[in-house]
Amino acid sequence: MLPAMRRDAREPLDLVLVGGGHAHVHVLRAFAARPEPGVRLTLVSRDLSTPYSGMLPGVVAGHYSPDQAHIDLAPLAAAAGARLVHDSVVGLDRAGLRLALAAGAPLSYGLVSIDVGICPDLGAIAGAAQHGIPVKPVGRLLPRLEALRARCREEGGPRKIVVVGGGAGGVELVLALRARLLGDAAAAGRDPLRLGFALVTAETVLATHNPRVRAACRRILAERGIVLYEHWRVAALTDNAIIADTEDRIPADAVLLTTHAAAPRWLRQSGLSCDAGGFVAVAPTLQSVYDPHVFAAGDCAALVETPREKAGVFAVRAGPPLAANLRAKARGEPLRPWHPQQRHLALITTGERYAVASRGPFKAEGPWLWVLKDIIDRRWMRRFQMS
Ligand SMILES: Cc1cc2nc3c(=O)[nH]c(=O)nc-3n(C[C@H](O)[C@H](O)[C@H](O)COP(=O)(O)OP(=O)(O)OC[C@H]3O[C@@H](n4cnc5c(N)ncnc54)[C@H](O)[C@@H]3O)c2cc1C
Repeated sequence: MLPAMRRDAREPLDLVLVGGGHAHVHVLRAFAARPEPGVRLTLVSRDLSTPYSGMLPGVVAGHYSPDQAHIDLAPLAAAAGARLVHDSVVGLDRAGLRLALAAGAPLSYGLVSIDVGICPDLGAIAGAAQHGIPVKPVGRLLPRLEALRARCREEGGPRKIVVVGGGAGGVELVLALRARLLGDAAAAGRDPLRLGFALVTAETVLATHNPRVRAACRRILAERGIVLYEHWRVAALTDNAIIADTEDRIPADAVLLTTHAAAPRWLRQSGLSCDAGGFVAVAPTLQSVYDPHVFAAGDCAALVETPREKAGVFAVRAGPPLAANLRAKARGEPLRPWHPQQRHLALITTGERYAVASRGPFKAEGPWLWVLKDIIDRRWMRRFQMS
C-alpha cells in the first residue's frame, strides 16, 4: 500500500535529495537559479564534496588537483536554500515517509530523490575484501590511491599493479596510474622499470566501443608496456597474485577493481521495485515505477524502458529532467519523460595529455582531443562553483 500524498496547501513540501551525486548537483543549481515556492529543500549526503567523474583520471594522472575536480556541496546547497545534512541514509520507510540516517534522527519527506551511486560488491571474488582496492564508490577512490602511491614509494612496496575491468574507467585508470607512479619513481630517483602494469578483463577491452577504438587502445596500452589480458575472468585474489577461474595466475602486488559494484542494500530493503541488480526501477520520468513519492537518478537508478550503462555522463544528463520533474511533481503538474541518447561522445584519456574519441562507429585520437575534453570538463565544473 502506498501512502497517499496529503498536504495542507500552506505546509511546505519537504523535498529531500539523498546523495550529492552528478544529477543532484544540477537539481541544486536549478533550484538556486529559480527557487520553488512552497518547497523546503534538504540535501543529505555522506560526503561534502562530489568528485566529477570526467576529471578523475586527470586527478589520478596528476593533471588536476583534487579540488579542481570536486564540487563543494555546502555553498551549492546554501545557494539553493537547502538544508545540508552530513549523514548517510541507511533506510527508507515508505509508509511513514521517513528516511533513517546512520547518525542523526529520522528525516521526514514529502518527496525524495535518490542519487547515491553504487558501492563495491567484493563477495563475488574470493579474497577481494582483504587484497583488492575497490574503485567504487568514486568518492572513496582518491584516498585509496594516495595510500597506494605512498606504499609504492616504500622500499619493499608494490611493484606489479593490476587493474581489473576493461571498460573506459579501467582503461583510463591503468593509464593514469601508470603515468603517476612512473612520475613518482622518477622524482624519487628510482628506476621506473621496476614497476609493471596489467589490465585484466573478462570480455574484450572496451567491449561497448567500436573496433577501431579498441584497436587504438590496445596499441596505446602495448606502447606503454601495459600487459592486456582479455577473456580472463578473475575468481580470487591473494596477497601476491590474481587467480582466474581456469586457475591461471598473474602476479599482482596491488589490484584495483573497477568491476563488481552493486546497489546499496537499503534500496531493495525499502520495498521499492528494483531491477535484478537491486537498482531502483524508474520510469522515463525518473519517478519510481512503484512509489510516486520517490525519484532516482544516476548509477543507483535503472531506467526500465531505456536501459543505459552506468556512467557519469548519464548521471549528468539526468540532472535537468530530474530537476524539472521534481518541480512539476511539487506543483502537481504532469511529468515529462526523458529520452537519454543512445550514443554519446566518450573521450578516453591515456595518462598523458592525449585522448581517444569514440562515438558509434567514429574514432579519432590526438592531443587536441585532450584539450577539448579539458575545456568541456572545466566549463562543466565552473557551473557549480558558487564562490
Ligand atoms: C576512475 C573512474 C573514471 C571514470 N570516468 C568516467 C568518465 O570519464 N565518464 C563517465 O561517464 N563516467 C566515468 N566513471 C563512472 C562515474 O564515476 C559514475 O558513473 C558516476 O560517478 C555516477 O554518478 P552518480 O551521481 O550516480 O553517483 P556518485 O557520483 O557516486 O555520487 C553519489 C553521491 O551520493 C552520496 N551517497 C552515497 N551513499 C549515500 C547515502 N547512503 N546517504 C547519503 N549520501 C550518499 C555520495 O557521498 C555522493 O555524494 C568513472 C569511474 C571511475 C571509477
